Amino acid sequence: MIVDTHCHLFFDAFDPDREAVINRAKELGVKYMVNVGTDPEANQQALDLSKQYEGLFWTAGLHPHSSHLATEETFEEIRQFVKREKPSAIGEIGLDYFKSEASPEIQKKVFTRMLRIALEDKLPVIVHSRNAFKDTFDILKAEGGENLKGVMHCFSYDMPELEELVKSGFLASFTCNVTFKNAAALLEVAKHAPLDKIMLETDSPYLAPQIYRGKRNEPSCLVHLAQVLSEARNISRETLEATTTKTAISFFNLPVP
Ligand SMILES: [Zn+2]
Ligand SMILES: [Zn+2]
Repeated sequence: MIVDTHCHLFFDAFDPDREAVINRAKELGVKYMVNVGTDPEANQQALDLSKQYEGLFWTAGLHPHSSHLATEETFEEIRQFVKREKPSAIGEIGLDYFKSEASPEIQKKVFTRMLRIALEDKLPVIVHSRNAFKDTFDILKAEGGENLKGVMHCFSYDMPELEELVKSGFLASFTCNVTFKNAAALLEVAKHAPLDKIMLETDSPYLAPQIYRGKRNEPSCLVHLAQVLSEARNISRETLEATTTKTAISFFNLPVP
């Protein structure tokens, strides 16, 4: 089995056929899917889905793209919600300097506040970081230190950044964009990353693999990623799947099947 450690099945894109999408994934061995929240409304939707379907888990986050909308009440609302509903992680949270309506200053403030919520409840964090490695890493180190478990999702930086991350005890997760024709450099990074420090994700509905490029991505596509990555690393798919699944189960504290 494999775990899609990052998807957004509560998005409208799945309204017409959500159940079929979930069943298709399970039939191909994607037994667990982690639905990642992006704001208070999405967090609730992710929670609701996990109650509806077996094998679905959820996290509570505040995406950097929504950070300029956050007020003191938002943090308190999320804090209470997290204590009450007990998500598997806090995320996605982080910094996105590539395209965001929120200024870096606001993003950094929100990221820091959300990290504190995670630390308060000893939860791992899913970090979104784009064109912002240094600031992301500095805040993770300063706020989290040794006590924070974190993964940088949809990892899109180079080998030195990966090494720095791993050295500090964090994980990286790779998504189907490593299968893109123009992603040779990223595939190299995914190929050389320590096998026990990575997880797999689709980030559905975004980033469909090369063979479905431009279409909606879905968790069943994780098997393509596993195939491409195991070939690139010259290991069996079973080894790749067993190792990344073990990491995901331990990271999110999921039930051992
Ligand atoms: Zn993201
Ligand atoms: Zn995402």
